[in-house]
Amino acid sequence: KKEQLELLATVEAITKDGASLHLAGNISSVKELDMALKYGAEGVGLFRTEFLYMDRHSFPTEEEQFEVYKLVAEKVGSNSVVIRTLDIGGDKHLDYFQLPEEQNPFLGYRAIRISLDRKDMFKTQLTAILRASHFGNVKLMFPMISSVEEVQAAKAILNEVKNELDEQGIPYNHKIPVGIMIEVPAAVMIAELLAEEVDFFSIGTNDLVQYVLAVDRMNEQIAHMYHPYHPAVLRMIRMTVQAARDVGIDVSVCGEMAADERSLPLWLELGIRTLSMSPQALLRVKHRTLNTLAAEAKETAKACFRHRTSLQTEELLSAFAVRSG
Ligand code: PEP
Ligand code: MG
Repeated sequence: KKEQLELLATVEAITKDGASLHLAGNISSVKELDMALKYGAEGVGLFRTEFLYMDRHSFPTEEEQFEVYKLVAEKVGSNSVVIRTLDIGGDKHLDYFQLPEEQNPFLGYRAIRISLDRKDMFKTQLTAILRASHFGNVKLMFPMISSVEEVQAAKAILNEVKNELDEQGIPYNHKIPVGIMIEVPAAVMIAELLAEEVDFFSIGTNDLVQYVLAVDRMNEQIAHMYHPYHPAVLRMIRMTVQAARDVGIDVSVCGEMAADERSLPLWLELGIRTLSMSPQALLRVKHRTLNTLAAEAKETAKACFRHRTSLQTEELLSAFAVRSG
């Protein structure tokens, strides 16, 4: 079965009736990139850079980061790599960076909030990413955005870094695409305002589900309430796609929901064409894509949007997946 799946690595992800999908990999290291490429990833939809900062005694230098980003950009070739700026806090910690004791770390000092507060650190990372953009198709993404001000502040710092590179005559892609994660409910509600500020959205369902449903993604006791197929989650995703479409920017999904092949009808119905997932999931999702009739899948998804409970939707999507083999 595994060998059969591996034969699919070089096959295009296209439904029986010709709807094509772009399947990219989520990676946190060069080793994971190699695995993603082996399993046929068309580029990297999410490079979680925090793992470059972990398991060390101090922050990685600009040069150390640059070398890794450049290598990844070169390895993905003509495809793109979306490099996400540091997303620590919440469940992710650094031994050498004292985070405050917090009552609610997931609602606390996290991700872009830290980057905007620690401008020195943020600029080092942005410089390394911009320099790497000269060597491949690099896109930049900010995590955990909850307001227009945050995007504007991050872009202002990016511009400072660009000016510094210009002064030194260091080459980089002046038109590097800039996107944001949509993973906080506020971002969904103002998606049409955020869309005016950026080139693309990537929906992070892992955090979106926890914040929409107020269910801590790490808490075992309420894990049964962590429901990606909750009608509120589906509506949030639909709103985000609508806003992106109205303004004309790209939208993809990079949370674990993208790796659950039962979700395929939802993406096809909503018109989401790019999915990014852990390397291990790529061939499974591709296999399911090849066996799916998009026309049928869309009817199933429409029914899901009419359902009133997570369970009904999950049952319908599971049955559809079994039926299409
Ligand atoms: C997400 O929140 O869905 C996501 C992709 O990011 P992470 O899992 O790294 O928080
Ligand atoms: Mg997240």
